[in-house]
Amino acid sequence: MNRAEYYPILKEKYPDINHFSEIERTCRKIEEHIGSHERPCISVSGGSDSDCIVHLVCEYFPEYVEKCRFVFIDTGLEYDATKRHLTYLESKYGIAIEKIRGQSVVTATREYGIPILNKSRSEDIYYYMRGKQWAIDRIDGAKKAGTRYEYSANMIAMIHYAMENGIKIAARCCDKSKKQPIKRYIKENGIDLNVTGERKAEGGQRASNHKSCFEEHKDGIHKYMPIWWWSNDVKAAFKAAEGIRYSDCYEVYGMKRTGCCGCPFGLDIADDLQTMYENEPQLFIACMNVFGQAYELTDRFNCRRKKCLPDSFQMTLTGEIERG
Ligand code: SF4
Repeated sequence: MNRAEYYPILKEKYPDINHFSEIERTCRKIEEHIGSHERPCISVSGGSDSDCIVHLVCEYFPEYVEKCRFVFIDTGLEYDATKRHLTYLESKYGIAIEKIRGQSVVTATREYGIPILNKSRSEDIYYYMRGKQWAIDRIDGAKKAGTRYEYSANMIAMIHYAMENGIKIAARCCDKSKKQPIKRYIKENGIDLNVTGERKAEGGQRASNHKSCFEEHKDGIHKYMPIWWWSNDVKAAFKAAEGIRYSDCYEVYGMKRTGCCGCPFGLDIADDLQTMYENEPQLFIACMNVFGQAYELTDRFNCRRKKCLPDSFQMTLTGEIERG
């Protein structure tokens, strides 16, 4: 559709001027960016943000669908609800979602180590364990008050415990299971626009990573985040007006966000594990097997304010799960 076509439809659907102007602006940007590229690739995670993008493109710009690739990166640890939802999206919009895989999270964590606390700390610890001087300076130097990297005494004690007990720590799964497969896909398929569902309102480190919804890259593979500026309120209005159904993770299990399944970085991981235990028990067991030591170490050494494990679970470092 062009602006003359979608403008009156949006006007009718969105009586609130703020919702209307944000969504209308998004449509104009989609026309500008997806319209002007030959081979866009739209990342579909099965989460609510990417659902909004799939809907926007398929509903308002059906003429772009043929040139777009819809791609899901399967980390090997996925909710059944997500997999069902991909099938639902394919049939609802008449699209094919390509499933691509790199090294699975299970294999990558076994080979390099388990992620703990957050990505940059996991990388620091990975190199600290290998005796890299910069990492030693960064972590041990943090003992001095006021240093930038802020490793608490508890965190340092946890790192030493892990080293003494042969527990490897790393965030390599992010590269091996997520970044590398999409990079390879983009290269092999001549993609010129990488479309993702990031939103500033999600907060975290990403929120400060981008200044605009479109970024021109020197290698000619530009990045576009159509709903980067959407508030939670705009997104909720869009869902309601468009009649979008999110995956069962949201609609049935009651999750607020999905993210990478079981990742110990998640601040609400305890809630997610409880949800998994109740709704997808096999996945719960898999996540405990893969990340259990990370949850347990974080909690045992009080490395963050919010616990990783639900109160009713304890876990021993031998990997045994006990229901309290
Ligand atoms: S988000 Fe967490 S679990 Fe997922 S790939 Fe990255 S470090 Fe691994």
